[in-house]
Amino acid sequence: MSPRVGLYPGSFDPVHVGHVDLVHRASRITDRLVVAVLVNPAKTCRFTVEERVDLLEEVFADHDDVEIATFDGLLVDFAKQVGANVVVRGLRAVSDFDYEFSMAHMNRRLQPEIETVCLMAAPDYTYLSSRLVKEVAGLGGDVANLVPPTVLRALQAG
Ligand code: ADP
Repeated sequence: MSPRVGLYPGSFDPVHVGHVDLVHRASRITDRLVVAVLVNPAKTCRFTVEERVDLLEEVFADHDDVEIATFDGLLVDFAKQVGANVVVRGLRAVSDFDYEFSMAHMNRRLQPEIETVCLMAAPDYTYLSSRLVKEVAGLGGDVANLVPPTVLRALQAG
């Protein structure tokens, strides 16, 4: 049987504990998991692509089966490039569903052999988003339990 290679794409601006939980769970059902930061010049991000990659590398340094990458262009093209046969996404609430549903169908149309698997967010993290983390941290709120320590330091550094 060919290895099951997962591709978990996103902005990860920055990575938070909801993402970390998803990576742990996705790596249990894949042989190799590529976490890929989308390079999107149209989107204003708090951290540069390089910073986001560095943070992810640090967070998953102990995970031999997890690798960090960047991509632009079509997700299915990048999936083919890295040999991924499964795209992993997270569903927090019904609000995520419409977008994930249409993306999954479009990606299937473009590349029928790549499956999309959506994992439900852990109950404790269904409300958690990078946007909320940045907003609360920016206003001086405590996000210590919501992000890995290395991300907390990066947020506090300004
Ligand atoms: P995007 O900009 O593509 O929405 P994010 O970096 O916010 O990317 O998230 C990447 C993926 O992680 C998406 O599939 C998103 O639904 C999922 N995700 C985000 N937050 C959580 C969370 N708290 N729990 C589980 N999955 C999450």
